[in-house]
Amino acid sequence: MTTALPVPTLTTGSAGLTLEGVALCEIAERFGTPTYVYSRAALTSAFNAYQQALGLRKSLVCYAVKANSSLGILSVFAKLGAGFDVVSGGELARVLAAGGDPGKVIFSGVGKSVAEMRYALETGIGCFNVESAAELDRLQEVAAQMGKRAPIAFRVNPDVNPNTHPYISTGLRGNKFGVAFTEALDLYRRAARLSHIEISGIDCHIGSQLLDPAPMTEAAEKILGLVDQLASEGITLDHIDLGGGLGIRYRDEEPPTPTDYLKPLLACFAGREEALCFEPGRSLVGNAGLLLTRIEYLKPGVEKNFAIIDAAMNDLARPALYDAYHEIVAVAPRELPATRYEVVGPICESGDFLGHDRHLSVATGDLLAILSAGAYGMTMSSNYNTRPRAAEVLVDGTETILIRERETLEHLLKGERPLP
Ligand SMILES: *Cc1c(COP(=O)(O)O)cnc(C)c1O
Repeated sequence: MTTALPVPTLTTGSAGLTLEGVALCEIAERFGTPTYVYSRAALTSAFNAYQQALGLRKSLVCYAVKANSSLGILSVFAKLGAGFDVVSGGELARVLAAGGDPGKVIFSGVGKSVAEMRYALETGIGCFNVESAAELDRLQEVAAQMGKRAPIAFRVNPDVNPNTHPYISTGLRGNKFGVAFTEALDLYRRAARLSHIEISGIDCHIGSQLLDPAPMTEAAEKILGLVDQLASEGITLDHIDLGGGLGIRYRDEEPPTPTDYLKPLLACFAGREEALCFEPGRSLVGNAGLLLTRIEYLKPGVEKNFAIIDAAMNDLARPALYDAYHEIVAVAPRELPATRYEVVGPICESGDFLGHDRHLSVATGDLLAILSAGAYGMTMSSNYNTRPRAAEVLVDGTETILIRERETLEHLLKGERPLP
């Protein structure tokens, strides 16, 4: 058994689980299920924890939009003064629609198209994180056509092993991200000669769900060595971006707080002039959200019992995709002995599970909360099996705000046509 729920603003009371000041059963009543539910207080305190850890140091926290790109979530961070890390023109459009400051946007990703570069230059983003020589040349050409100078950082691959899941480790030599550490110096020299490129910084991002500051510190030290070498050649940078990746608690992980995580990094940077940037995604939204779902059927089996719920792998792909663990709790547990259930969705795939072997005291029709679902939940959802995507609501004190309507079948069929 875990000691506390990983969603910090979730409490247990007579009305069952309550997020901030709103009972989850009321939300299900009003908005139906499955529904993603987020706590504004939890989002805010996660962001403020970074700000406090950075103190008065010149810095910018750029929320990694891919973790959760709903306009309601982005606007919470925009109002807090966040920057944003985007990986597509679509994400940039979302940031602008949510009131984000384009000057605080950094654009990452290995495959930026000409159209995306043009759009980002038009809106005046803060920095392009360039990931190859070919991308540098393309950006120079696009910026020249527009009569602009593109601010850039190279995403450098520091080749450290973050000890995380192989699908979410990104800083090793053998993957598609970033430029090799050994090539970085030449690329900066080349960029310095380009008429429509403005060298602004350096970037690295070594992976995700990191629970130990050591690999980040190792990466930072390598990056600083490079920064000093560049300075000795007259190439000075105004920011150093150390990416995202701080982990969260799904089960019994004990991730460091931003303060503990950043302490050894800040020590490496003591006395330096450059602004420090970070691109956290999961650690800002993961534990601020849950997926509220209802049990459709309880199905006893010979070997296993199944709880078949109205949410599925199309709503929350992480268990099926990474075998990820999410805590699943009854919103109002019954006075029944707990039974072990396979918690599964209605999709026609054996991989459609949300949790294995969970002890639950529940009856058909009861509500479950799948916790720590704020990051890489809604953004990775799909319409597989022609299932409309879930609604999303934001709880703010005693208020509940619908930030995304539940999709309808009309939304799904729009734009398609059968043969005449
Ligand atoms: C995914 C990603 C992030 C965010 O990672 P988290 O693990 O969610 O903090 C930051 N930067 C880049 C370049 C990314 O691809």
